[in-house]
Amino acid sequence: MASIEAQNRNGQRIALDTRAVDEFGAQLQGALLRPGDAAYGEARQVWNGLIDRYPALIARCANTADVARAIQFARAHHLPIAVRGGGHNVAGTGTVDGGLVIDLSPMKAIEVDPVSRTARAEGGVIWGELDRATQAFGLATPGGVVSDTGIAGLTLGGGFGWLRRKYGLSCDNLIGAEMVTASGTVVRASETENPELLWALRGGGGNFGVVTSFEYRLFPVGPEVMVAFVLYPGELAVPALRFFRETMASAPDELSSFAILQRVPAAEPFPETWHHKQTVIFMSVYSGSVDKGERVVQPLRQFATPIADLSGPMLYVEAQRLFDEDYPRGARYYWKSTYLDSLNDEVIERLVAQAEAAPSDHSTLDVWHMGGAVARLGEGASFRGRGAPYHLGIEANWTDPAGDDANVAWARSVHADLRRFSGSGQYFNFPGFHEEGDSALRQSFGDAYDRLAAVKARYDPDNIFRLNANIKPAV
Ligand SMILES: Cc1cc2nc3c(=O)[nH]c(=O)nc-3n(C[C@H](O)[C@H](O)[C@H](O)COP(=O)(O)OP(=O)(O)OC[C@H]3O[C@@H](n4cnc5c(N)ncnc54)[C@H](O)[C@@H]3O)c2cc1C
Repeated sequence: MASIEAQNRNGQRIALDTRAVDEFGAQLQGALLRPGDAAYGEARQVWNGLIDRYPALIARCANTADVARAIQFARAHHLPIAVRGGGHNVAGTGTVDGGLVIDLSPMKAIEVDPVSRTARAEGGVIWGELDRATQAFGLATPGGVVSDTGIAGLTLGGGFGWLRRKYGLSCDNLIGAEMVTASGTVVRASETENPELLWALRGGGGNFGVVTSFEYRLFPVGPEVMVAFVLYPGELAVPALRFFRETMASAPDELSSFAILQRVPAAEPFPETWHHKQTVIFMSVYSGSVDKGERVVQPLRQFATPIADLSGPMLYVEAQRLFDEDYPRGARYYWKSTYLDSLNDEVIERLVAQAEAAPSDHSTLDVWHMGGAVARLGEGASFRGRGAPYHLGIEANWTDPAGDDANVAWARSVHADLRRFSGSGQYFNFPGFHEEGDSALRQSFGDAYDRLAAVKARYDPDNIFRLNANIKPAV
């Protein structure tokens, strides 16, 4: 009997009867891809070129019914499930060797209601698409800072972006969801319907089921915002970070900023004499009026003589795309994270030393200024880590496979060095390979962990959704 090679959830090799697979494919409105299909080669890949996995099947779901059928098929055949929205997760949890990928990328419907200032978007939407749709009405919800990241994974794990200090995280503005549970049942979550599930989806990751649509609260933003984007010489990194710390202490909520330690990209518009040299970048978006924003970001532009100052007013949708070309699909990424209790001089000294040690010119240490609405909101969300004034994103980014070990080792060494300055754990949307397992989750979720485990037990008691920052179901 013809069969397709697969793996069960215990990692044992199994054979899937092709008749059963054909029947499953015929039930789907979307496409079912198998090894050998023309579209399989591209569909098996995720954003991170470091991840190289071969799923037995990829279900490109067209609607909620397809998702439910895919879950039921995976359960019946004991297949591990990877759920994919935008495919950006750097740990590669959007794909799986020998299992079934439930790929929501064809699910792109977006409805914006400018009167109630809400938007509903399906699970395959990416931020660029949602921003375009909401900006047509002068509205936006907090997203990420790269436009091709999926709304799904980013929102479920938290969601840090340019509106965070004014309006909170993406998960704080998730007001409703439709989800298919582990048993294939469709449930809705809102403040009035299954509110405990809504609480869990606001930061608890992809643990509870497959979210087929997300409903967001929207705010007036743009169409233009003021952007500060200034590069200073690396030898000024220590005083620059001190200056950043002092300036941020009185920053208004409209201002969301990073300080980034990296090397100057060898590209236009950066002056050639500076290419490959160490730099410290101040990057901010002011989400209020452009006039006021120009005044507010002025000190960040006048700290010293810059290598380049690319600041100016721009469309919000442009600001949302500013980093896109720095993160090409197929490059290699390994990202860790830690919150920072302060940006004291010792932290600054370690950051500068670690940035200089990065093996790749593309790697960055990103100091995200938090506070504002991030710290104030959160009553109805399981997301934790709000109290810290800064979050450190440790991004090893490179292209040559020969550099894999050195770049991963660098990010791990920065994490080991800097996490002692954190009392609040890490952000699981920058998860490395989730190598710290349950202990890191318990530390970061703190008092929310047991409550999340209870929600998990209700919607996924057998833990079939485990390729994620995995919360184990309460016994
Ligand atoms: C270039 C780049 C830029 C980024 N920028 C930011 C940023 O600015 N701010 C920030 O906070 N994070 C950022 N991230 C991290 C990002 O939040 C995570 O990688 C997130 O997991 C991406 O979501 P996705 O849907 O694209 O990923 P996917 O790989 O498709 O999904 C990741 C995980 O989310 C879960 N999931 C996905 N879809 C669903 C669904 N429909 N239902 C249930 N679970 C689901 C699954 O567990 C899945 O394994 C960035 C990542 C990259 C690579």
